[in-house]
Parts: sequence; C-alpha cells; structure tokens
Amino acid sequence: MKQRTLKQPITVIGVGLHSGQDVTLTIEPAAVNSGIHFLRTDIENAPLIAADAFLVTDTLMSSNLVVDGIKIGTVEHLLSAVAGLGIDNLLIKVSDAEIPIMDGSSAQYIELLLQAGIQEQEVAKQFMKITKPVSVADGDKWARLEPYSGFRIEFEIDFDHPGIPKDTQRYDFEFSSKGYIEEVGKARTFGFMKDIEYLKSNNLALGGSLDNAIVLDDAGILNAEGLRFKDEFVRHKILDAIGDLYLAKYSLIGKFCAYKSGHALNNQLIRAVYADPTAFEIVTNYDTSKIPIDYNL
Ligand SMILES: [Zn+2]
Repeated sequence: MKQRTLKQPITVIGVGLHSGQDVTLTIEPAAVNSGIHFLRTDIENAPLIAADAFLVTDTLMSSNLVVDGIKIGTVEHLLSAVAGLGIDNLLIKVSDAEIPIMDGSSAQYIELLLQAGIQEQEVAKQFMKITKPVSVADGDKWARLEPYSGFRIEFEIDFDHPGIPKDTQRYDFEFSSKGYIEEVGKARTFGFMKDIEYLKSNNLALGGSLDNAIVLDDAGILNAEGLRFKDEFVRHKILDAIGDLYLAKYSLIGKFCAYKSGHALNNQLIRAVYADPTAFEIVTNYDTSKIPIDYNL
C-alpha cells in the first residue's frame, strides 16, 4: 500500500466554532514521509505545527495543538476525514486559531478532499501496529488499544437523557474508507443547551448553532431536522476518536475500545502507547489479505 496525498490544493471558508469568525482553510499536497502539518497564515513566520499527539496541550471541547505559543484548535474532525480516506501527507493552511466547524461532522471535509482528488505516492504507507494491549482510565471512563488484524472501534457512551435512548449508546465500527463515509463521517457533534449558554457567556462556542451541532435541552433534541442516525451521538464519538488517534501520526492496525472516552483520554492513550516501545511496531510490509484495511471507494 502506498502513501497518499492530494492531487491539487483546495480551499474552503467556514466558521470557527469558538470565535464565530470566518476562517479560510487551504489544504495542499505534501511530500512523502512529511505527514500532516498545519500553518497559520494570519501570523508572520509562523511555525509548522505537526498533527502530533505530543503537541496537544488542551482538550477542553476539542483537540488543540500548540507550538511556540501558537495554537491551532479543533483539529479532530478534519483529521478524522483525512484518516478516513487514508491520506498521509498534507499541508493545511488556516487563517485563524481554529479549523472551521462546517456542519459539525466531517462530511464536508470528506467531500472537499475527494473533490481535490487523492494521489498515490511512490513510497510505502506506514502503519502503527499495536502488539500488546495498552489502556488508560479516568474515573469510570476508559480507553484501550489492543492487537487486531484490521482497524476496529468499539465505543460506548453512557448518557441518562431522554434524547439519547439507552439502546443507541454503543457502536462497533470495522474500518474501511467506504464504511467511514457511510457510517461515521456524517455524524454531527452534539452539546447540551445549558453547557452552550455557559460557554457563550465565557466567549466560547460563539459560532455554535443548530447548523453545526445537535443541541439538546432537558427534554430532547432542538434541531428541527432531527438526527441523521438514531445513534448519531456515539457515531460522532467514533469520528472524534479516529481524528484524535490519527495524532499518533500513523494509521493504526489494532482495536480501539472505549467507554465514555473523549479527547483527553484518547490523547493519553496515544502517549501511553508511545511510552511503551514493546506495545507497537511501525510496519510497511504486511499481508493485506490478513489486514483488511481498505481505502478504496
Ligand atoms: Zn467532535
């Protein structure tokens, strides 16, 4: 399997979730083995910021990367789309401190990346193969990576809320790009009215609206159009996890299991894997008939 980038650059303008301001995003092809980098175009001589779990300094509401005090926030939905399409190398230029929220899912990023076209490159794709179980926990929340012949996510949330029925709080996803687009990419982020009011009073989530999130009050869902899937909430947690896990800088061969995990635990889990050199290996040669990770559309 070969590394992948885009055929051509592509630009989109969207709203920043926290600032409420328009953000211009340009995604450009990048050389083999370069990985994914962000560049702030609104700051002179800004450093390249790698999509690297060790640069995540703040996981309040989203995954945020910081280099030399310069921040790029809310990277997880775009990175999820990039991981979902198996893209290895990109330069992502952005005119503000956060990636636009779009419709709260990664659907528009998937569309954009496909519009630019995916270019196979001349060097083999590298995977991080999990070779022994690694887990992290925080109270009753936990997340684990374990050996598996493919990439699989088993996620469970636990909300006691009339808008989130108990039988919609678990989802198992066997990764392929096709499956990602159909089952995961369209699932929107969600929030509770009382949290959103609090955030707005603190000058956060100023761009948040029913156009880019499922919003719940105490009784149910406020969005007139309803849900895209009856289990859209847990599917979005899987979308987030795929983006967060891509901060490991490699596509994974392994199984990710999680209960009530979020950006902070997902990040701790990658750090825990890197902390144990016997827990993973970086592989290029593997039997594709035994590792059925499929990026074909
Ligand atoms: Zn999210």
